[in-house]
Amino acid sequence: MTELLPYYIVIYTFVFLFGVSIGSFLNVCIYRLPKEESLIKRNSHCMSCGEEIKRRDLIPIVSWCLLKGKCRSCGAPISPRYTIVEALNGLLYLFVFIYFDVMQFPLHAIIVCLLFSALVVVFFMDLDTQLISNYVVIFIALLAVLEYFVSDYTYIFDNNGMTYDNIWKNQLVGAFIVSLPLLLIEILSKGRAMGRGDVYLMAATGLFLGIKGVIVAFAIALITGSVAGMIQKHKNGDSVFAFGPWLSLGSAIAAIWGQQLGNFYLANMTGIWS
Ligand SMILES: [Zn+2]
Repeated sequence: MTELLPYYIVIYTFVFLFGVSIGSFLNVCIYRLPKEESLIKRNSHCMSCGEEIKRRDLIPIVSWCLLKGKCRSCGAPISPRYTIVEALNGLLYLFVFIYFDVMQFPLHAIIVCLLFSALVVVFFMDLDTQLISNYVVIFIALLAVLEYFVSDYTYIFDNNGMTYDNIWKNQLVGAFIVSLPLLLIEILSKGRAMGRGDVYLMAATGLFLGIKGVIVAFAIALITGSVAGMIQKHKNGDSVFAFGPWLSLGSAIAAIWGQQLGNFYLANMTGIWS
């Protein structure tokens, strides 16, 4: 292990920097997807003076710190949000690669990283606009299919007693077990309690996480979402509320610890109901 340490340090540094640059692209997605703007053409502009941001000022995290969070040409403050998204994505990639031991499960680590990036986009875009992009949802569904083909499920679904040939059934039921009830709520409340985007998001992440994972994800979303909702209502009396950010947070946690949390609940908590 110790003789491998230098290799791990090089790999982890690279993974973090790669995550940060993808984070830069996620900022573009968060900002442009709701407006149906192209993700590739045109450089970024200052929100306040419209000046195109120069290439040398586009280095993730570093540029924002060097410019002390201000536009070079007009001095208007630039939101720390961009830097936060970049750093967050870098740290998430680093965490996933360490947690899933990159040497042993490289493909699974990469797929979970991509899932996390998609969830970061959903989190911030829904927070800003109350919209969840269908492109991002389709991307998550594709990752779920990929995950089915490449992952070593004996590792991911450990002590779950599942054989390989019923894993696809688990994923398929996972796609509907939360999203169908949500769809009903969405229809009955005419979209007031829940958006159609939330329904599609839980179908896609359910396909990825399977039954136990998606239920854990939804439980975490309910808990964190109600806390955030109460804080928001207390702060500005606002009851317009995006649920997507909390569904993303729950899904991200469930992608790592979903099976363990589900098993822990079943082993320790079900007694209190009987
Ligand atoms: Zn400016």
